[in-house]
Amino acid sequence: MKDYSPYETLRISGVTNDSIVDGPGFRYVIFAQGCEMHCEGCHNPQTWDKNGGYDITFSEIMESITANPLLDGVTLSGGEPFLQAEAFAALCREIKAKTPLNIIAYSGYTFEHLIADKACRELLSTIDYLIDGAFIIEEKSYDLNFRGSKNQRFVDVSESLQKGVLIEKIFG
Ligand code: SF4
Repeated sequence: MKDYSPYETLRISGVTNDSIVDGPGFRYVIFAQGCEMHCEGCHNPQTWDKNGGYDITFSEIMESITANPLLDGVTLSGGEPFLQAEAFAALCREIKAKTPLNIIAYSGYTFEHLIADKACRELLSTIDYLIDGAFIIEEKSYDLNFRGSKNQRFVDVSESLQKGVLIEKIFG
């Protein structure tokens, strides 16, 4: 497996510049490479292999983000972004320092699982919202905002960390 430089590059399967399905508004989406969950019905099985994909530098990502004035936010998708938690935390700190964009992360793990890990907690502290939990095909629904299955939650991370209790973001 390739060694990632945690503070300069990410291993990804791709990016998209103008998504409207990975969170509210226009979003820059980074699809992390590598996922151990292997959910039945996953839309992105090409992202599972940690040795697949390609490296991208923070500066390449920041150039694309700052060149797009239409963006409302950045989404970390996958694959599993939290397998590269240190690197994504460093990138998110840079995004927050240089832009007003909000940050959403998807994870196959639950908020409670992630918060128990030091590196994952660090990444959580740099994002605004988390869509958590594995995709469960039996709970699949097309009526869920930005989520694939009913078990997944749209977590208001900053408020949850502040209040010490999980708070879900409710869309009206
Ligand atoms: S956690 Fe997400 S990327 Fe990973 S297998 Fe499940 S649906 Fe696919």
